[in-house]
Amino acid sequence: MAETSVEKTQILQKYLELEQRGRIIAEYVWIDGTGNLRSKGRTLKKKILSIDQLPEWNFDGSSTNQAPGHDSDIYLKPVAYYPDPFRRGDNIVVLAACYNNDGTPNKFNHRHEAAKLFAAHKDAEIWFGLEQEYTLFDMYDNVYGWPKGGFPAPQGPYYCGVGAGKVYARDLIEAHYRACLYAGLELSGINAEVMPSQWEFQVGPCTGIELGDQLWMARYLLHRVAEEFGIKISFHPKPLKGDWNGAGCHTNVSTKEMRKPGGMKYIEKAIEKLSKRHAEHIKLYGSDNDMRLTGRHETASMTAFSSGVANRGSSIRIPRSVAKEGYGYFEDRRPASNIDPYLVTGIMCETVCGAIDNADMTKEFERESS
Ligand code: ADP
Ligand code: MN
Ligand code: MN
Ligand code: MN
Repeated sequence: MAETSVEKTQILQKYLELEQRGRIIAEYVWIDGTGNLRSKGRTLKKKILSIDQLPEWNFDGSSTNQAPGHDSDIYLKPVAYYPDPFRRGDNIVVLAACYNNDGTPNKFNHRHEAAKLFAAHKDAEIWFGLEQEYTLFDMYDNVYGWPKGGFPAPQGPYYCGVGAGKVYARDLIEAHYRACLYAGLELSGINAEVMPSQWEFQVGPCTGIELGDQLWMARYLLHRVAEEFGIKISFHPKPLKGDWNGAGCHTNVSTKEMRKPGGMKYIEKAIEKLSKRHAEHIKLYGSDNDMRLTGRHETASMTAFSSGVANRGSSIRIPRSVAKEGYGYFEDRRPASNIDPYLVTGIMCETVCGAIDNADMTKEFERESS
């Protein structure tokens, strides 16, 4: 009988090497009624070559805060799939959007509305690059690697830190990076953050709705890899009160016009539009974001909109290199780490490219709490 985890791993390996006899496993992943992720697996008869070959599926929404017990079926509509880094071979992970029995999007399915905006503004070729920050906790809910009942030395040596005592859980972060690349996600980079045991990965640039899909899948892979290390992932924007940095999800944006020489004019126009809808954007930029957007720790105030070149204390930052070249992209620094990327990219598209008749991102927030 296996007693150590090494022995258990050796036994498991025997089964993982068994033939699947032509069948594949598709792990369906979805967003539940609290903004967390759930997944379940199913066997399919053959290798999947396109998204329309994937069947719709369903689950018990009364167990996930997504439906009442008397009408509990929620439908899973596949929207994207990726090679499964855990099961490998022809096995896949499937991102699915949730729909109610009557065909309407489930209250936390913000993809439905955002996708309409991106379809209407296809010609703008809007790109996003999101910087997902997050914090590691151990199984007893202490910040991972921090001294028991105490604090590590103040912030300073940890951002992109190198060396024992300055960096925590590099093994987990490396494993997640490789899992994302295996799955074909556009991870553009990864770095240790200012607060010890806080990290960041960047997804993008991705076009339109694809950013939200990839970011959710990258989060899923992170939770899964972290399971194996016995580490909990927190996306809370201010996991620790005091003189510790909060966690954000900076949202970098460009349209086709902004990326061409002379694009600065379009970047400025976009910032002007954003300045007029500050409050509406903030509503969709994550919960508890007020604990983070204090004007300290490289953030701007929650109540006042500001912008500037190379200014990490403003709502919107134009990178120095972009200002120098006169074209490129801008960075919205307001979104919190716990955002739904569909909400943020959706309202960004609505504000920068223009509203459309049959979609309204600001209403999505009300739908969530209905
Ligand atoms: P920071 O200096 O703010 O930490 P990062 O390097 O972490 O910047 O993140 C920059 C992000 O901007 C990356 O995700 C990258 O993919 C994205 N990005 C780069 N160029 C563009 C562009 N033209 N449009 C949108 N996003 C872009
Ligand atoms: Mn960054
Ligand atoms: Mn960062
Ligand atoms: Mn940034």
